[in-house]
Amino acid sequence: MSQLQSFLDNSENKALDEIHRKKIIKAVTSYDQTVIGMKSEQFKDWAHSREVAGKIKQATLDRLPDYLEEFESKIQARGAQVLWAEDAQAARSFIDEIIARHKVKQVVKSKSMTTEEIDLNEHLEEQDIEVFESDLGELIVQLAGEKPYHIVTPAMHKSKEEIAELFNEKLNSDPDSTAEELTMTARAFLRNAYVTSQIGITGANFLIADEGAVVMIENEGNGRLSMACPPVHVVVAGIEKMLPRLRDLPLFLPLLSTSGTGQEVTCYNSIIKGPKGEEEVDGPEHMYVILLDNGRSELFQDEEFQQALRCIRCGACLNACPVYRTIGGHSYDTTYQGPIGSVITPHLRDLASFGHLAQASSLCGACTDVCPVKIDLHHLLLENRWRSKKAGLSGIKWELILKIWAWVFKSRSRLNGMSKFIQLTQGLVRMLMPKSLREKVPRRAKKSFGELWKERQQ
Ligand code: SF4
Repeated sequence: MSQLQSFLDNSENKALDEIHRKKIIKAVTSYDQTVIGMKSEQFKDWAHSREVAGKIKQATLDRLPDYLEEFESKIQARGAQVLWAEDAQAARSFIDEIIARHKVKQVVKSKSMTTEEIDLNEHLEEQDIEVFESDLGELIVQLAGEKPYHIVTPAMHKSKEEIAELFNEKLNSDPDSTAEELTMTARAFLRNAYVTSQIGITGANFLIADEGAVVMIENEGNGRLSMACPPVHVVVAGIEKMLPRLRDLPLFLPLLSTSGTGQEVTCYNSIIKGPKGEEEVDGPEHMYVILLDNGRSELFQDEEFQQALRCIRCGACLNACPVYRTIGGHSYDTTYQGPIGSVITPHLRDLASFGHLAQASSLCGACTDVCPVKIDLHHLLLENRWRSKKAGLSGIKWELILKIWAWVFKSRSRLNGMSKFIQLTQGLVRMLMPKSLREKVPRRAKKSFGELWKERQQ
């Protein structure tokens, strides 16, 4: 089945699944309430803060090669090794080499969308390497054999009852466990993995050029344990995670926490500058930072799309999107879902397979409004539509429909005529339609907006 067809099928199923929609609406409503309050409480001028953040990220992109080199030389001077991965295959090969060098049998991981992007878990498991996802949400989806549903909250689609059932089946916990008891079950299950794993793999929220540092933020302490307990720490980070200076963090940490989860700041914020130093008693003996390109250079060189590399993966555009709220994260079948996923995936993967995602938008602009680094998401979605069309991917039927639509909408009298024609013929057309289609196609309203308006004026 094509990507498009599977997207349409999955979206339809999810949109019609009322239980699923209730769970998502509950999660997003609680997110909205927390975030709106936190924005006004924490930021004197939210609009100004995102303006500044967008400019800093854009200025970073303007000099990205220099900052990457500065980061590399500084962190290497403290004993870490930087590896440049052109694509997912190269990143996996680097990890294979590290695994062979350090005789790894078990890995503990903290939440990292970049490792999702390179299908790392599947790759490691194929080699009989045991992988422990240590973030609670990631552990839930790993045990359920699923992919993350959301870039910030991977198990957003699961109710407490579903998690209790899953933990009962996989971890032998009480099926009536409370949320606290479920957390304690996960904690007990993972504790040992931190000390028995030979490698801890993490992502990075930011890379700091002037300090040569990796910044990792989280709420559970699992990232810090994954990084500090095993003798080897591997960071997999996209090249766009760069910030020029340590002094940019006082803006970006609260900005990301507020937009991501409605927090003032996340509970654990680690700044990692290399492996364990001579005078330090704990921490990893070896540290590798894999800088992943995987299509980002293509975005970087694209005048229109370079701004998409400003993204700090806060997930706010997903929560704001009426389409995401209706069809959920799994329907996209991509690492990055929602508006930002629909913008970048056709470039990181391919336009022919993922260009249709740009249609999964009402173009209402809610995503652009909430983005803390001011990415013009809905215009980039339009641009993706245009590029699909230019590449001849829209299909003759769709092209023809659009041509007729444009011709009709260019003239008031043609539009009125078309409207009348639909009104007169809809009964017959509906009769000829298969039942399944008839149920989906809405009836034309008895009166158009124009007619109602005229009546009202009179
Ligand atoms: S595009 Fe903006 S809103 Fe969406 S995840 Fe990235 S930073 Fe957040």
